[in-house]
Amino acid sequence: IKHIGLLTSGGDAPGMNAAIRAVVCACEHYNISVTGIKAGYQGLINGWFTSLDSHSLIHSLCRGGTLLKSARCQAFRTQEGRAQAWQNLQQSGIDALVVIGGDGSLTGAALLEQEYPVAVIGIPATIDNDIFGTDACIGYDTATNTVVEAIDKIHDTAASHNRLFFIEVMGRNSGFIALNAGIAAGCSAILVPEHYQPVDDIIERFASCDMAGDAGIVIVAEGHQNGGIAELASITARRLPDFDIRVSILGHIQRGGSPSCADRVLAGRLGVYAIEQLRRGESGTMVALQHQLVCSLPLHDVIQQQPALQTEQLRVSRILAM
Ligand code: ATP
Repeated sequence: IKHIGLLTSGGDAPGMNAAIRAVVCACEHYNISVTGIKAGYQGLINGWFTSLDSHSLIHSLCRGGTLLKSARCQAFRTQEGRAQAWQNLQQSGIDALVVIGGDGSLTGAALLEQEYPVAVIGIPATIDNDIFGTDACIGYDTATNTVVEAIDKIHDTAASHNRLFFIEVMGRNSGFIALNAGIAAGCSAILVPEHYQPVDDIIERFASCDMAGDAGIVIVAEGHQNGGIAELASITARRLPDFDIRVSILGHIQRGGSPSCADRVLAGRLGVYAIEQLRRGESGTMVALQHQLVCSLPLHDVIQQQPALQTEQLRVSRILAM
């Protein structure tokens, strides 16, 4: 491997910059050229290439988002789009591609590797943590901490006014953020897409509380199976007319902010390991963390499976919510 192309793709996640820096530092360490590709697969197709050096990246280490920018790119889903991407890689003399992103980005990476003679390796980065084969994705720890901090603040006002809050958090079709932030913030109920819990169950539990403030906070994953959060709140309000019920959608604050120590260290380890695995001749894989150790696994195994919430954690969440 002589020349690596590097891009970030899909939803941005805190720690992507730390991963970019780690890849660049590792390339410099092993005397490999590295080219940044702007705006994910869109930039790969359009030839938006840029130089990167580790000294200029130190200031980005503590910043959220991605300095290479990210994008969703329809064209890369087509064979014509990927052919153009391959042509640009060839013309620039890039013989390996590192893709930092979520499961969609890794699916695109797997296709490119299958169709063209270019080495490809993926680094899992998404706040949703919905990538199979790794204990954690870059950005998830920071996002969960942001949610916990926000709920702590909402707790103060909920208790002061005796209000019951329904708080929606991100996660797409996965409940990692809701489950873990819900445990950490002491929420009274946690609604995740993976385990259907009828709204009646929740209402029944709150019916025994004297005041809404005693009920506290329900954390709701955006992909949960009970309809929209507004509908959930209004059903509860109709059934518990004495309760002062409010809805809060945390939204995009969950994506931003300075990456946590855990995310920076994860990004550093996975970024360096990705380059080391490419040097060993590996391709078509994703670097990951399993049981505290770095490892890699085939992209095809990653993209065909969904990570499951731990039943032990679900059980704990129910005990703590009582
Ligand atoms: P996040 O989960 O954080 O949003 P993601 O990587 O899953 O990140 P997506 O929008 O699903 O985000 O995918 C990012 C990009 O990857 C897409 O815009 C597209 O260019 C490419 N991609 C996704 N799925 C495919 C696919 N099946 N084939 C080819 N390319 C794909």
